[in-house]
Amino acid sequence: MINRIIPNPKACQNCGDKIIFGRTDKKFCTDACRVDYNNRVKTERRGENPEFVKKITRILTQNYQIMRKLNPSGKTIVSEQQLTGLGFNFNYQSSYQITKKGDVYHFCFDQGYLKIKDNQVLLVIQSNQTEM
Ligand SMILES: [Zn+2]
Repeated sequence: MINRIIPNPKACQNCGDKIIFGRTDKKFCTDACRVDYNNRVKTERRGENPEFVKKITRILTQNYQIMRKLNPSGKTIVSEQQLTGLGFNFNYQSSYQITKKGDVYHFCFDQGYLKIKDNQVLLVIQSNQTEM
């Protein structure tokens, strides 16, 4: 168990970096990589969604809840700042719809929005989303 420079470095099984220092049978470049790799394998064995899927699901759910809260009537105009101030993330949506006019409605489940002029956003509800 002597740490030394490895002559023909192998790639870390987690991040792919070369392992240049340590035992020749080392599989990971750092302890963090070993822990990360083992956690990922455990998660996959349990059939759970990987961490990034959970994270995006949380963002979508948050977007959904924000729009639902701001739009009880089914049609409300709010500002982009109002949405982002509540933690809304415009980078994520669950579906979109383009109208004949070319307007793009972005949805998080049945709650959606259309960007209109001057940082204004029209919130809408799409009832057929819940019938899927
Ligand atoms: Zn690594």
